[in-house]
Amino acid sequence: MRVLISEVGPRDGLQNVSATMSTDAKKAWIKAEADAGIREIEVGSFVPAKLLPQLADTAEIVSYARTIPGLTVAVLVPNARGASDAIAAGAHKLTLPLSVSETHSLRNLRRTHDQVIEEAGKIVGMIKELPEDQRPHFEGSLSTAFGCTLEGAIPDAQIASLAERLMDAGCDEVGLSDTTGYADPSSVRHLVKLVRGVVGDDRLTGIHLHNTRGLGLANVLAALESGLDTIDASLGGLGGCPFAPGASGNIVTEDLAFMLEAMGIETGVDLDKLFAVRSIVEAALPGEPLYGFVTDAGLPKGFTQHTGKAELAA
Ligand code: ZN
Repeated sequence: MRVLISEVGPRDGLQNVSATMSTDAKKAWIKAEADAGIREIEVGSFVPAKLLPQLADTAEIVSYARTIPGLTVAVLVPNARGASDAIAAGAHKLTLPLSVSETHSLRNLRRTHDQVIEEAGKIVGMIKELPEDQRPHFEGSLSTAFGCTLEGAIPDAQIASLAERLMDAGCDEVGLSDTTGYADPSSVRHLVKLVRGVVGDDRLTGIHLHNTRGLGLANVLAALESGLDTIDASLGGLGGCPFAPGASGNIVTEDLAFMLEAMGIETGVDLDKLFAVRSIVEAALPGEPLYGFVTDAGLPKGFTQHTGKAELAA
């Protein structure tokens, strides 16, 4: 079995850090992680620079990351405007977040569900104008899927209907996102089954998890056992969680890679090389806490990386 670790630190991590990382340091980070065997990196977000000055150089970062052989360059796009910039920059994968909580959607993107679906349709229109071999992969991400800080739990029927509408709008795939860190292994199993029931197994393969309440890796295991094979994570859990001091933001890439390799699941990642990438981020963001257990404790004595021989009962 093989799992794709999708590194989201340069986007999700950095957007939650007040300091701005230099463009050169971002490039060094991305290059070093790709060298360590990470095959997909979300390198930024095409939001207005005045909203997120930390990510103002996303277009330049995309052009740079595209020169790294074998790397899938992913970006977040809040709307069709951002998608147009992302396409111009040459991103391989675009993710449009759709908050299943309409209150959260209005607060965050200032758009109703209907308006976000309309943006998705516009983005699909732009992608279809491109020659077939130049079209980026387009994912609609169901954010706050496991609950919203404003609305609480979101009804299944609403989540299922929005997943269906994203696919009808022409998305290649939908993703599940635990924006608030509310997920637990049972709710992960439940939502994967619900959404796959609507869009088909091959149209939901990835999940974005946060470790706000310490359940991140348990949720990963539930996701893998439910058949997903793409897991978002952030180096050093960068960005933390403003509501939970001591908790990382996203699940920690190093701990995730260690867990998978220890289980015999192939990641393609060289753990020692991956751990060494932390020094680049530490040097570029002095004083910013980085999280992770395996890098503090070290690998177990006699630990060797496995070769993908494990099978999970799906
Ligand atoms: Zn996130």
